[in-house]
Amino acid sequence: MGFQGALRQVIQAHISQFNRMDDPYLRERASDLRDLGRRILSHLQEKAPNIAERFSEPSIIVGEELTASMLGEIPIDKIKGLVSVMGSGNSHVAILARAMGIPTVMGALDLPYAQLDKVNLIVDGYLGKIFTYPSEALIENYQQIVDEERLLEEEYETLRDLPCETLDNHRLSLFVNTGLSADIARSLDRGAEGIGLYRTEVPFMVRDRFPTEAEQVVIYRQQLEGFAPAPVTVRTLDIGGDKALPYFPINEANPFLGWRGIRVTLDHLEIFMAQIRAMIKASAGLHNLKIMLPMISNVAEVEEALALIRRGYAEVKEEGYDVKMPQVGVMIEIPAAVYQVKELAELVDFLSVGSNDLTQYLLAVDRNNPRVADLYNSFHPSVLRALYSIVDQVKDEGVGLSVCGEMAGDPMGAILLMAMGYDVLSMKLDEFTKSESGDS
Ligand code: PEP
Ligand code: MG
Repeated sequence: MGFQGALRQVIQAHISQFNRMDDPYLRERASDLRDLGRRILSHLQEKAPNIAERFSEPSIIVGEELTASMLGEIPIDKIKGLVSVMGSGNSHVAILARAMGIPTVMGALDLPYAQLDKVNLIVDGYLGKIFTYPSEALIENYQQIVDEERLLEEEYETLRDLPCETLDNHRLSLFVNTGLSADIARSLDRGAEGIGLYRTEVPFMVRDRFPTEAEQVVIYRQQLEGFAPAPVTVRTLDIGGDKALPYFPINEANPFLGWRGIRVTLDHLEIFMAQIRAMIKASAGLHNLKIMLPMISNVAEVEEALALIRRGYAEVKEEGYDVKMPQVGVMIEIPAAVYQVKELAELVDFLSVGSNDLTQYLLAVDRNNPRVADLYNSFHPSVLRALYSIVDQVKDEGVGLSVCGEMAGDPMGAILLMAMGYDVLSMKLDEFTKSESGDS
């Protein structure tokens, strides 16, 4: 029997064992084993160069469906642009790309992407356009834009250390959204006052299995230590929707209305507790951790999560760590939460509006679907009314209130939100130096 046959036999035996298990979670792990078998087989057979070798030259990555986890596999300094046939500017891969400052075009539905290998391209993320075989004149034109942008960034550099205050002395706090450890130094460098949203699913996506509690402590500690004593808001795992973990497949007809965020983690307490314990351990001696819960649609979810967080805190304290009970907050990103914002505010220390999902769910527009991308609009009167209603309902509740969706980093959005009464805006890194969003 060749090695392929031997491998198949061993993997199949393990798969059958998992398939016979009663626990649906463990049974589902059979698919992880199948995936693992496929990966081992491709490594054994593969003569092709690995990812790092394949991208030894700076490249524009073009694909049918680029995902957030792919971004983690390619060295960032080698990615000069991204083009995806599927997805939209509101997809998570686009948000990450924007934070990394990579020009990106999403939803290029009619693109013959398979014919573009080794073809010279210009990716214009502002206009959402791709130019194939560009002329010398066009290249020169775009080089000029790149140079101008660099100059503009240098100009913004001079504003970096000024307090974020309007001309009539209104003080606003600018926080940053992070996901990668590389974001930390760059955010500090640009004057962020804290982390308003650390998307923990990002370090989960770039691995091929769930990180252990001890591994998570190291990952979170980097963020907490990097920003201490400034606050770091760590969001519990928000997988599902368009954020799939390669080793935890979720197959659903309507993933954005399905098993996502808190719904997954409250069904898998082993995932939730490992994460909570790791966050709290990582905050030892720093005391700057804030925990945020995504996709909250009712009070019971918050009550259950709070009880678990208190339990995790008591356990970690008992183990001898120098920790304090972290502040806990809720994301307001589902219309139901807007209508119950007062009840939610009574339970927690802070609220943060996820305008990306709030827009998607209020307007019934899949944020990942290029066909309806034109209908996705965070400035729709209904979205603005919902945003204002949130401030209005909780202004006397003494609860922290911020916005951490993309709108907070949009120049017009930031002004509108400030006028409504939001005092903390948390935005992707790029917005600290750029005045417009970098992809379409
Ligand atoms: C949001 O929904 O606005 C948000 C900040 O979370 P994410 O984009 O990660 O879903
Ligand atoms: Mg969200």
